[in-house]
Amino acid sequence: MANSRQQYKKEVDIRPVRSPIYPSTTFERNPDGSYNGDLIYSRISNPNRSVLEQEVASLENGAHGFAFASGMASINAVLQCLKSGDHILLPDDVFYSTLCLVKEIFVPWGLEYSLVDMSSLDDVSAGIKPNTALIWIESPSNPQLKLTDIEKVVNLVSDRSILVAVDNTWATPVLQLPISLGADLVMHSTTKYFGGHGDIMGGCIVLKEGCRLSEKLQRVQMLAGAVPAPMDCWMISRGIQTLKVRVQQQTRNAGLLAEFLEEHPKIDHVMYPGLASHPQHDLAKRQMPNGFGAMLSVLVNGNEREAMQVANGLTHFTMATSLGGTESLIEHRKSVEGPDSPTPESLLRISVGLEDIELLKADWDRAL
Ligand SMILES: *Cc1c(COP(=O)(O)O)cnc(C)c1O
Repeated sequence: MANSRQQYKKEVDIRPVRSPIYPSTTFERNPDGSYNGDLIYSRISNPNRSVLEQEVASLENGAHGFAFASGMASINAVLQCLKSGDHILLPDDVFYSTLCLVKEIFVPWGLEYSLVDMSSLDDVSAGIKPNTALIWIESPSNPQLKLTDIEKVVNLVSDRSILVAVDNTWATPVLQLPISLGADLVMHSTTKYFGGHGDIMGGCIVLKEGCRLSEKLQRVQMLAGAVPAPMDCWMISRGIQTLKVRVQQQTRNAGLLAEFLEEHPKIDHVMYPGLASHPQHDLAKRQMPNGFGAMLSVLVNGNEREAMQVANGLTHFTMATSLGGTESLIEHRKSVEGPDSPTPESLLRISVGLEDIELLKADWDRAL
């Protein structure tokens, strides 16, 4: 078989404007045995993954990024850096799969956890144990959009060796910068706003400069191998090109929709940090100075049946899970989370997309 790679290299001086995709799983060694740019094998590192990791780390004001095949794979990797007997603190309304991962996979391995209301600093403080190794924050939370004061939690544990992690998937670095507020690490489901078009899965962990997890996390990434494919990294990097404008416009839409729904007689309550009626609106203004995000939840008048009816009556909001894409989505969370879920029956969670806001408002008006 002819070596087409070498022939192509000789004949063409290619200068692409956007970075090429490198599907190659392996890289040629130099005659002296060294590796060009430390590229050895794609599970260890790949040019497309390195580009993505640098981009996400730089957006989050962090030192190192570690990309994974999904948001859950990235959370799994952080938990694998802990040791048996460690205790972690989770929000009482933590992302449901995160809770299942801890309960079903890590508790049998010896990890301990407790759930606290992280909108209360007193509850966080009371939840800390001598063996607490990690505080996992989600702000705004899912689906009730409760906030956690990241800076105050960081100050609370500043004299102890407890890591503070923030799942920043909902806010994105466009609106909130946890590492600048003192957090040790940030996690993203890049499936959401980074990819941004509902067509790619991914996750990323960003560590702040000097974070002691750095070496271990790199080993977990490389040895456990839940790494994203080069094409997927490239797709997420492409999404990042428009992250800021998408998040800004979707946030604008969400704010206008929240205000409209709050005034609507058939809506019982709107949960959105940008509304003056949100119990932590002042914290939201401090912690999310560039906007309050494109996610909101509403309680409709009635129970599950009425909520489902409204969701089904909308034409510009697809009934589906997930968030962060250009198309608006709506979800009845309680029926997704199961009978033990603390989510109210009448709650609908909305991921606001890039559609014309007048179209979205009119759609709700009609459905209600
Ligand atoms: C989607 C999501 C995750 C999980 O990410 P996947 O990419 O689906 O694995 C974790 N946290 C939050 C807040 C999410 O929205």
